Amino acid sequence: MTFNDDCIFCKIVQKQAPSSIVYEDDFIMAFLDIKPANIGHTLVISKAHFEGIFDVPGELLGKIHQVTKIIANAVKQAVHADGVCIVQQNGKAANQEVFHIHVHVIPKFIGENIKPFNKNELQIVEYAQLDVTAAKIRDQLTLE
Ligand code: ZN
Repeated sequence: MTFNDDCIFCKIVQKQAPSSIVYEDDFIMAFLDIKPANIGHTLVISKAHFEGIFDVPGELLGKIHQVTKIIANAVKQAVHADGVCIVQQNGKAANQEVFHIHVHVIPKFIGENIKPFNKNELQIVEYAQLDVTAAKIRDQLTLE
């Protein structure tokens, strides 16, 4: 598997950096975003380092999205959301911040003020708090 020494997500995959893990298999990992747009905001990534949709192999992209479906269901149930936004940014122009492919799973609620999806305006959440949410999501995982 290819890793990039300067990539924070590669460090998370190799357990060299902390994260609140929701799901993990041989190819894919899902963990909570430390600057969530909402409680339960989860990132789904490939374990191997690819920048984005332009360089990731199609088969692996398929695996990412298979897991995204499982995570979307679990997140929706764990936080009792009314809906879930799936966001996947590619390139600086698309506001990609970490250049390791990732899919955002963001719970949404009816009547909620829509926050701009701007990472600079979001607060970092402590791991202890994220771990509580991660456990709730893991409890709702139904593997297909
Ligand atoms: Zn990486």
